[in-house]
Parts: sequence; structure tokens; C-alpha cells
Amino acid sequence: MPTFEEAYYKIENKNIEIKDYVDKIHYEKIYCPECLTAPLHIVRKQNVFPYYASNSKQEHLEDCQHYEDYITKKNLNKLIESKNNEDEKRLEFLIDNNLQRAINLLIREETKRNNTVESFISNTTRNQLKASLNEYKYESIPRVSINRLLSKNGEFIDNYIIIWGNANVESKDYDRINSTTGKKFKIKKLIFRVKGNFKFSIQLSENQIKHYKKLPQNSMNNGFAVFGLVKSNKGFLELKILTTEHLQYL
Ligand SMILES: [Zn+2]
Repeated sequence: MPTFEEAYYKIENKNIEIKDYVDKIHYEKIYCPECLTAPLHIVRKQNVFPYYASNSKQEHLEDCQHYEDYITKKNLNKLIESKNNEDEKRLEFLIDNNLQRAINLLIREETKRNNTVESFISNTTRNQLKASLNEYKYESIPRVSINRLLSKNGEFIDNYIIIWGNANVESKDYDRINSTTGKKFKIKKLIFRVKGNFKFSIQLSENQIKHYKKLPQNSMNNGFAVFGLVKSNKGFLELKILTTEHLQYL
């Protein structure tokens, strides 16, 4: 049964932490913070810190990370390190589909906000894309909303996860010199901020920059989903990505 530290309180359109939960106000009015659909309830047991839980996985939206079982950290790392062709394909299937589901949730949110025909069409084509990819068993890759990243940061360091949500993305170019060969090379840093606050950055190598340029770019404060390895650099979060294809914009 999926468990949660935060619940979405529909009436005020905000998340409620366990310590702020009040039976009289929130009982039967709280939902999954990711899909905003599955009802949650508080679980209080002796000798255990209270937590939120949903009744079943099936009550979540299919695009929610709590709808399916998670791939274990060990199995995910095994796939990433494997040179076996079949493992590589399965890994790409999992990453593509997990990213796509995060993007689907963002589209859903966007569609709700400005119910336009245009977003409805892009939603339909994306869903078709997803349906055609069902060749392997789907498992969830842990996903964290960019808004929750800092409070969860210790928990995810040295883990492969998906970060998703709405952010302002700034890209900065730097020239560097290789200390051994003396050759000049370029790097690009993508800085993800929410309401002006730094959340994390991604550093692209010279080779990745070429591919990044081919991606449809993120406009101001737009939706994204990205898969990578979380690292801490002097207290700042960095995400190491395997390929620019693991960074998707809405
Ligand atoms: Zn959910």
C-alpha cells in the first residue's frame, strides 16, 4: 500500500504535512499529492510515526508513480551498468515511459488550467505514443516533484530518480581548458529554479550540447521531466544525466 508524508488538500489547493493534519478539517478531503485523485487517510499506530496511505494502488491515476510497483534500486542500477542489448532496451523502455507519465500528469494539469483544444490534441497524440510502447513490464522509477526536492534531498543523493514539475530553466555556457591536453572545450549548465530559488543544475558535456540544441526548448516556467543521478556539490544539487534524451520538456 503506498504511503505518503504529504497529502493534497483540495479545498485550499495545497499540500498538508502530517503535523498540520486536523481530523475535523481534513478527514475525507485529502488526496495523493501526485495525481490528486486517490483518496488518502491518516494511519496512526502505536510506536510508529503517523503517515498517510491510500487504499489501493488502483485508485491512483495510471500516470501516477504510485499506480505500479517500483523497480528496486539494485535492479535499476544493474540495468544502467549492463552492456547487454536486451537490458539496454528494457532500461530505455522504463525511462521513456516513466518520463512520459510525468509529462502526461503535467499536460493534465495544464489542460485543467486552460481548457484549450490545442492541449487536448497534444494530450491525445502523447497517449497514443505511450500505448504503442508496451513491450516490457512497466515498473515505476521513483519520481520527486521539484517543489519537494530540497526537503527530500538527502534521501536521494547517489540515487537515479526522475525530477519533474514546473521550473524556470536558464542555460549558461562556459569555456574550460583541459589541464592535461591544454585543449579548450565548452560546457553548458542548465539551472532549474522555482520562483527564483535555485533547485538543481545539470551540466552538459560538449557532445551532449549538440544533442540538446535539437530539443524543443523550455519557455519560461514550463513543465519538464528528467531522469538522472542525484549528486551534491558543496551542498548544491546536481543531476548527472546519461543522455539529453532523458530530459523532456512539455
Ligand atoms: Zn497518485
